[in-house]
Amino acid sequence: MPQNFDALIIGAGVMGASIAFHLAERGLKVAILERNVVASGATGHSSGLVRMHYDLAAESELTFASYKHYFNNWKERIGGECGFQKTGFMQIAKREHEDKFRGNVANQQRIGINTSVISADDVKKLVPDFLTDQFDFAAYEPDSGYADATLTTNSFIEAAKRNGTTLIQNCEVTAIHTSGGRVTGVSTTKGEFAAPTIVSAAGAWAKHVAKLADVDVPLVTWTHDVAFLHRPPSLGKIPAVIDDTINCYFRPEGSALILAAGEDESLRGEAPDAEDQTPTPTFVEKLIDAMIQRIPKIEESGLHSIHVGRDGITPDQRAIYSAAGPDGFYLACGLSGTGFKTAPAAGASMAELILDGKPKTVDITPFRFGRFAEGQLLQGEYGYGNIWK
Ligand SMILES: Cc1cc2nc3c(=O)[nH]c(=O)nc-3n(C[C@H](O)[C@H](O)[C@H](O)COP(=O)(O)OP(=O)(O)OC[C@H]3O[C@@H](n4cnc5c(N)ncnc54)[C@H](O)[C@@H]3O)c2cc1C
Repeated sequence: MPQNFDALIIGAGVMGASIAFHLAERGLKVAILERNVVASGATGHSSGLVRMHYDLAAESELTFASYKHYFNNWKERIGGECGFQKTGFMQIAKREHEDKFRGNVANQQRIGINTSVISADDVKKLVPDFLTDQFDFAAYEPDSGYADATLTTNSFIEAAKRNGTTLIQNCEVTAIHTSGGRVTGVSTTKGEFAAPTIVSAAGAWAKHVAKLADVDVPLVTWTHDVAFLHRPPSLGKIPAVIDDTINCYFRPEGSALILAAGEDESLRGEAPDAEDQTPTPTFVEKLIDAMIQRIPKIEESGLHSIHVGRDGITPDQRAIYSAAGPDGFYLACGLSGTGFKTAPAAGASMAELILDGKPKTVDITPFRFGRFAEGQLLQGEYGYGNIWK
C-alpha cells in the first residue's frame, strides 16, 4: 500500500524546502523525497548572494519579497537561522550599459528596493581598497548581502516538519504515475507514495525527473567553480559585488576569507552526477587576474580552497515556476545559477499557484513552462544579455 500525502516534493534543496514549508503552512500533508541528503545539490554549494539588481523586474520582485519577508526577518517568519549578513551589495556596470543600468535601477526603486546609482568616486569612498578607474558608476544596495543556503534550507525543513511535513532522504523517485491525465503518485527506492500534487524541485536532475511525467524540459546542467581566498590582512571592509567589467563576483566569507567566482567558463551539459570537484584548468588564474584589477591587495592573498556546484539552466537563464504536463504536476526548476535568493518568495508563490490557481506574493506567471514552446523567452526590460557567458 502506498503512503498517502496531499503533496509530494521531489528534491530537498532550498526550492523544495521552501515549497514544502509554504504548502504545510496552508495545512497540506507534505512529503519531501530526496535521493541523497538535504542540500546535497546546488544548494549546498551556493555562493548565497542576496542582491536585488536584475534586468528583469519579476526577478527583482522575487528577491525583494524574499529579503523583506524572509531573510531580513528570518527568526520571526521561519525560525532557526539563515545566516543573512547585511554587507551591502554593489553591481559594477560596463560603461556601455549606462542607459539600461539607470533604467533597471529606476524599475527597482519603483518596486521599493533601496538602491541607487552611485559614481566611481562614491564607490572609492565606501571601499577605499577598490581600484575605480575602469568604471564610472555602480548600483549600491545597502540592505543586500549574503546568506547561508544550507542553513536556510534546514530552517525551512524544520519549520515544515513542525507543520507535519515528512522528510525522507536517500529516497530516489524512479517513476511518476498518472491516471486519466493527472498525477497519482510516485515509485521510489523506498517504496510507493500517493498524492494528487507532485512538484519537481530536482535542480540539475530536473530534466530527468520531468521525463518521468512525460514532460520535456529544455534544461541542461550548469557547473560552476567557486574559490575561497584568504583575506589579505590589510584589506578593509568589502561589500558583496558583481562586477561586470571584470566578469566576476565576490563577497566576504566570514572574517577570514573571500568567496569569488567568474561569470564565464561555467561548463554546460555535464551529467548531473558527474564528479564535481575538479574546477576548469584556467579557473584560479583567470579569477585572480580579474580580482587584482578591482582589489590590488588580492596579490597578498592565497587560495584557501575551491568547490564546484551544479544547477539546471534554461535557454533564457531564468527559472521555470509552472504547472506542466499532467494535471497536478508542477515544475520549480531551471533556477539557472541564481535561484537561492529568490527561493523564499518563489516557494510562497508556487504554493499559491498550486492551492489558489494564482500566485499572490509575486506574480510568477512570466516563468511559465509554455514560454519555451511559444518562443517567448524571457528578456530583461533593459537587458544586459545572458548573466552566464
Ligand atoms: C556554485 C553555485 C553558486 C551559486 N551561487 C548563488 C548565489 O550566490 N545566489 C543565488 O541566488 N543563487 C546561487 N546559485 C544558485 C542556487 O544555489 C540554486 O539555484 C539553488 O540552490 C537551486 O536549488 P534547488 O532546490 O532548485 O536545487 P538543488 O539544491 O540542486 O536540489 C535539488 C535536489 O533534488 C534532488 N533530486 C534530484 N533528482 C531526484 C530524484 N529523482 N528523487 C529525489 N530527489 C531528487 C537532488 O539530490 C537535490 O538535492 C548558485 C549555484 C551554484 C551551483
